[in-house]
Amino acid sequence: MDIILEQPYIQPLHKDWHRQQVASVSMLRLDVLHPVVSGNKWYKLKHNIQYALSEGYKQVLTFGGAYSNHLVAAAATAKAYGIGAVGIVKGQYAEKQLTPTLKECMDYGMQLHFATNEDYAKKGTADYLQLLSDRFNAPFIIPEGGANEWGREGAAEIAQLIPQEYSYICVSVGTGTTLVGIYNGTGSEQQVLGYVPMKHGSYMKEIVYAHLEGMDTSRLSLYDDWHFGGFGKHTAALVNFMNEFYRDNQVPLDMVYTAKMMYGVQEQINSGFFPAEANILCIHTGGLQGNVSLGGQLIY
Ligand SMILES: *Cc1c(COP(=O)(O)O)cnc(C)c1O
Repeated sequence: MDIILEQPYIQPLHKDWHRQQVASVSMLRLDVLHPVVSGNKWYKLKHNIQYALSEGYKQVLTFGGAYSNHLVAAAATAKAYGIGAVGIVKGQYAEKQLTPTLKECMDYGMQLHFATNEDYAKKGTADYLQLLSDRFNAPFIIPEGGANEWGREGAAEIAQLIPQEYSYICVSVGTGTTLVGIYNGTGSEQQVLGYVPMKHGSYMKEIVYAHLEGMDTSRLSLYDDWHFGGFGKHTAALVNFMNEFYRDNQVPLDMVYTAKMMYGVQEQINSGFFPAEANILCIHTGGLQGNVSLGGQLIY
């Protein structure tokens, strides 16, 4: 399976969508990069894998659930760079019922290892990592979500696609790696807004600010109001919003991350949160294959 990447581009949203309450709203379409590999994941993994290769590693190992955007992106990126990949999958049940995501991982040549939930929970401990390292021939281990310094460095590369004229940059938050990388790569006149799709998501603040210790964080804000019941959950209102958004802008949003962010952005626009002269750029991080769980509810 070859990896063909398309060039990301900036797409202005229709004026009716923001009712001209701000100067402009656009999306940076990282989702067009690849149909399966989420745009931000590619950048995070690319830097991890380039580092692994430069250090002479023969394979990388990483973690994810049966629907993980990160895992399939790791498989594809490893394949593109010609390095072996091992995926530690959460839950042994997953072996009996392979999801489309896991099948895709295997198509890209990733070796899957199914861990019990109990073992998987140990993925941050030195003992378990040593066990995996011994078993899988000393791979370069990438944490779930690519959440390490190379992931943040890769995400900073996304910032190079952002022109200075945008005064507000909006991005959705999982591990916060993309947000921190973009924050590090943007200019002193650019506000960076993170949207957390998890319930009680304010704990993300601590994680994000820990990576920015000693730095000026006055350009950064985090919001966790738009979780719609929790991570991966949705409501009829959210699905309606996604369909309307597609009808107005011809941009497909994903249910887990970018739909919740754009819903939040629109509420903020309507409440007068942004100044009238604001030029807003929202990062479309991809993740569209996750929409299969919505069945026929979407018009796209
Ligand atoms: C993984 C993912 C995110 C979150 O990225 P982090 O760097 O972990 O914060 C956002 N959007 C999409 C579509 C993703 O797949």
